[in-house]
Amino acid sequence: MSSQTAKKDFWDPEISTASRDRIISIQIKNLKDTVKYCYNNNAIYRKKIDDAGVNPDKIDDIADIGKLPFTTKDDLRDSYPFGLFCTPLSQVVRVHASSGTTGNPTVVGYTKEDIDIWANCIARVMYDVGVRKDDIVQISHTFGLFTGGWGFQIGTEKLGALVIPISGGNTERQLKIMADFKSTVLVNTPSYTLYIAEVAEKFGIDFSKLHLKLGFLGAEPWTEPMRVEIEKRLHMKALNSYGLSEIIGPGVSCECLEQDGLHINEDHFLAEIIDPDTGKSLPYGSKGELVFTTLTKRAFPAIRYRTKDISYIYTDKCPCGKTLIKMAKPMGRTDDMLIIKGVNVFPSQIEEVLLKIKDLEPHYLIVLTKENYMDQIGVWVEVSEDNFHEKLMDLEFFEKSIEDKLFSAIGLHIKVSLKEPKTIARSEGKAKRVWDRRQGGN
Ligand code: ADP
Ligand code: ZN
Repeated sequence: MSSQTAKKDFWDPEISTASRDRIISIQIKNLKDTVKYCYNNNAIYRKKIDDAGVNPDKIDDIADIGKLPFTTKDDLRDSYPFGLFCTPLSQVVRVHASSGTTGNPTVVGYTKEDIDIWANCIARVMYDVGVRKDDIVQISHTFGLFTGGWGFQIGTEKLGALVIPISGGNTERQLKIMADFKSTVLVNTPSYTLYIAEVAEKFGIDFSKLHLKLGFLGAEPWTEPMRVEIEKRLHMKALNSYGLSEIIGPGVSCECLEQDGLHINEDHFLAEIIDPDTGKSLPYGSKGELVFTTLTKRAFPAIRYRTKDISYIYTDKCPCGKTLIKMAKPMGRTDDMLIIKGVNVFPSQIEEVLLKIKDLEPHYLIVLTKENYMDQIGVWVEVSEDNFHEKLMDLEFFEKSIEDKLFSAIGLHIKVSLKEPKTIARSEGKAKRVWDRRQGGN
């Protein structure tokens, strides 16, 4: 693996170094196809397109995308599980689902061809930064319905490198395998990566004696100081990888070795930035909500999917030689979704569980902290005045039973701290439901 080769050598050179005109002509052709395809193969899309007054045969230009209706997470939930699929299930070979949502999760599907597109997107981002057949790729994302691990699994196989699908957790084993199998590439969340580093230090493991060179880290937001820390402690270059299951999973965009923005796989995903309040398209360079339209997928194509991630797009020439446009790393969300240990959590989900429990007051505060570099989530909630003294006798039992209820609804361990009546600050206006103490602030 060398940056020298990476500079000259691309997985799909005709795409990765294509002129803007060429990319746009590919996008227009595939956008036309996708819109017609969705219209002809899915009643929900047909209705949305009809309601927007758009003739699916009259998409002639990239700018015409602005006439098309948006797709949202609610559209997916409302059509649970397979309502937005555009192929019969007999052609779908894989499903994934987004984590941590009560009620209906968002389910996405892939045909054989879609899986191949996905593998190619990942192989491309890996190869273009120098991953080759002799690399050994340790995937520490949890395998399951979550897309993170699987995307890199098939992408690595496509590239021909060796993949270790170790999955998440069991940090001592992660380190043993990393040392014994001589892993050169780590695929992980940034927070778990830092935790692995900490455990390694406890055991006196010196990363400079291991073989890691490169990390593809993502699935959650992270900062530049975190990158500095990770690179220093693990002796590897850490690249930001972005994706979401509704679009394909990881492989939507990824940093190159310049580490300055994530190149978007634009031949498959058309990116827009919109004003989240008005829905109006914004020019390149403006900060707003990222919206993606898939251009080649068949089982689950997405037209103008609103990611709720805040970013901007820039077209500056990248020194790495790739001409695919770049997005800035996501810098927040337009909604209040929290991502804790890779699980998406909305404060409203926690509220829903708490408010159903007798003897609790509707006064609560979600508290975010960091422990071992991993985000931790807890909730303070008031016990009703009437039953406070009675509940006090068995506080721990009551807390545990609430934790169990939260776990079965959200799939995440949320530490519950019961509080005396009227002790949680009341708000004068918009309730502040989340106290984020992760940066040590208050
Ligand atoms: P999950 O992967 O938890 O099942 P999703 O696929 O819906 O659920 O998660 C996608 C979301 O994760 C994105 O919309 C974004 O908010 C976040 N995300 C993914 N990668 C990154 C990244 N590199 N930086 C910041 N946020 C990211
Ligand atoms: Zn680049």
